[in-house]
Amino acid sequence: MKQCIKYRIFPSKEQDSLLRELGFYATKLYNTDNHIRREIWEQKGEIPSWYDQRNMFVKNNNHWYRLLPSQTAQAVCKNLGDNYKSWFALRKTDTKANPPMYRKKTKLSPLTFSQHFRIENETIRFSMSRKFKKETGIGYLQFKLNKWKPILAGSVPKMATILYHKEKWMVHVTYEVPEPKPSRCKNIMSIDLGIINLATTVDMKGNCTIYKGGQALAVQHYFNKEIAKVKSKTEVQHSKKWSKALGRMNDKKIRQINQIIHTVSKSIIEEAKRNGVGTIIVGDIKNIRKGKKWNKKSGQKLHSWAFSKLTLQIEYKAILSGIRFEKVNESYTSQTCSCCGVIKKSNRKNRGLYVCNKCGNKVNADVNGSVNILQKYLRESNISRSIGSVVEPLIWRCNNVIPT
Ligand SMILES: [Zn+2]
Repeated sequence: MKQCIKYRIFPSKEQDSLLRELGFYATKLYNTDNHIRREIWEQKGEIPSWYDQRNMFVKNNNHWYRLLPSQTAQAVCKNLGDNYKSWFALRKTDTKANPPMYRKKTKLSPLTFSQHFRIENETIRFSMSRKFKKETGIGYLQFKLNKWKPILAGSVPKMATILYHKEKWMVHVTYEVPEPKPSRCKNIMSIDLGIINLATTVDMKGNCTIYKGGQALAVQHYFNKEIAKVKSKTEVQHSKKWSKALGRMNDKKIRQINQIIHTVSKSIIEEAKRNGVGTIIVGDIKNIRKGKKWNKKSGQKLHSWAFSKLTLQIEYKAILSGIRFEKVNESYTSQTCSCCGVIKKSNRKNRGLYVCNKCGNKVNADVNGSVNILQKYLRESNISRSIGSVVEPLIWRCNNVIPT
């Protein structure tokens, strides 16, 4: 897994002007590359690959290319190449789409380093190109990483980008975070995702928590209603004002649902840490649209992106806490009786209760699902441990987001 950490740096006056020069060179290279690409497009009607372009700059000993560290110059070509690719895809449906623009001369382009940098003792050091050293006498630039954040042991910095944003110099460092190893003796927790109950957790010790989804549904319901109101107005009168209002409302809805997802995933990881969990298992939601449990009659559906996001957030926070994260195929986990193992579709009762007609087991349907996910994982990984008796679930409600 990758983790990106943003640091602010404070260059000296001399370093500041060197960084500005480098950012300017990168803009020059970007625009030169763009100019050549446009000519090739006009003459041949095709777009060259970024790699061909890069080779051409190397072969011609391009001034801007040589002044930048080789990986940085290459990243500029790759970035423009990607922009051309998106334009090329876009013009298939939109014939009026414009090819990538030239950058303003005053714009300082980002400087990406994938090899020629090193982090040591809260300091980052960037190596310069030979030509740059020859012209300026500067072989490297070094900065203290402000607000040093401790990173997980074993994380490896893979990429660093220097950016000038809102009159601040920043360095974004991407680390490769190692996957926590499976530990057979630690506690294991399973999570069943749903709509009425966003997440239902059960662990080996029998701890159980239900994370209610009411807040997320309320937010969605509120905004869908407001958006529908505005839409009916725009049908009468098209105006920029209304389409802007729609955009703002949508953004707000996404922001509030994201806030809930953040809070829920955080609480789940806190619970896992409290109970000594070493592995978290989540039911795979790949079949989210096919699965019956997502098509409740009530018509209240949370968007599938919200579930993907929640799963990703749990994974991200788990790994950063040194907890292993795994997915398990959740088919039949809602129809199976967690007590006697019988699989019966009709056993899945409404009103959130699972009632087994074979053994008489009566249990919250999502708790039943979560126990089944846990059992399935134990079976598939040949772990011969049994789950402790599941206690009455704790109910957790998110109430820090109020739709406004
Ligand atoms: Zn049963």
